[in-house]
Amino acid sequence: MARSDDQPAVPDVDRLARSMLLLHGDHHDHDERDASNGSRGSESWSKSRDFANDPQRAAAVAEASRADREHYLTAGLQPVDCRFCHVAVTVKRVGPGHTAVQWNAQAAQRCAYFAEVRESGGDTARTKSCPRLGDSIEHAVAEGYLEVLPDG
Ligand SMILES: [Zn+2]
Repeated sequence: MARSDDQPAVPDVDRLARSMLLLHGDHHDHDERDASNGSRGSESWSKSRDFANDPQRAAAVAEASRADREHYLTAGLQPVDCRFCHVAVTVKRVGPGHTAVQWNAQAAQRCAYFAEVRESGGDTARTKSCPRLGDSIEHAVAEGYLEVLPDG
C-alpha cells in the first residue's frame, strides 16, 4: 500500500498512540536526568510504570493475585472439634504430621489445655497447639473426615 503518514485517513487511535509515545519519551528523559543522582530512583520508576498506561489491566492483575491469595489461605481449611475441650478450630492438613491449625480467639480462650498453661503462668502465644486437639486431628484423619492435601 502506498499510504503516507500524512494521509487524513490515519485513525485517531494511531495519533493517540503516537502522542502517548511522545509523552513517555519525555518522562524517560526526565528520569534519566534524575538517575544521575542515584540508581534506586530509576529502578522503582520502571517498576511502577509497567501498567501506568493500562489501569484496567493493573486492576485485573491486582484482583487476580488477591483472589489467589485468598484461595491459598482458605483452601483445605476444615473445622475440627477438640474432643477434649470441645472447641472448634479450623485445620489445614498439608501432609502426614504437617497440620496448620487456625485458632480463633474463642477457641484459644476455652481450650482446657491453654487454660492450664495460663494458670501455670505460661505463655499461650508460645503454645503451638493443644495436644488433645492433636489427637482429635489424628482421629479425624484416621476416620477419613479430614482431607489430606497432596502437597503444602
Ligand atoms: Zn484443647
